[in-house]
Amino acid sequence: MATLITHSPAETEMLGEHWGREARRGWVIGLSGDLGAGKTQLVKGLARGLGSAARVHSPTFTLVNEYSGGRLRLFHLDLYRLETREQIVAAGLEEYLQPDGVAVIEWVERWFGNEHSTFDIQHSTSESQAHVRRVNIEVLGETERRITYEDPGA
Ligand code: ADP
Ligand code: MG
Repeated sequence: MATLITHSPAETEMLGEHWGREARRGWVIGLSGDLGAGKTQLVKGLARGLGSAARVHSPTFTLVNEYSGGRLRLFHLDLYRLETREQIVAAGLEEYLQPDGVAVIEWVERWFGNEHSTFDIQHSTSESQAHVRRVNIEVLGETERRITYEDPGA
């Protein structure tokens, strides 16, 4: 488990960019944190780090945005509007746990709860060897965010 504090939206984006540069096919990154915490900000960095120039915004009318043009495709899911696991499964989102590219999931706790290990257990029942990163963003102040992350099973 690693923790760091960012002091601006740009710093959070830079963290995402760094992860985007190291990402491999099949990675799944789960994000939790309140509205306005900076989840989408982090995804902007991820897209940039993967080399995509796509305009990143939370999927609203759809559940998934796909950004191409980079080294790997990036699938951006936002579960804010889905309240139960059943709804998520019914929406057919499970395929994104074995992405042909990288998947990043905002409000991942709606799917897997808050236990980091649960995410791993659910994930490892799939056949993929994918790497999972579970991330939590806490608002500390107007421009300060505490970002905690862990790669369960790594
Ligand atoms: P979420 O997707 O978690 O709802 P967004 O990324 O859409 O949040 O919004 C985060 C908001 O917080 C943006 O308005 C951003 O400018 C602001 N912000 C301020 N400081 C930070 C920081 N350190 N990291 C990320 N966002 C920050
Ligand atoms: Mg968002």
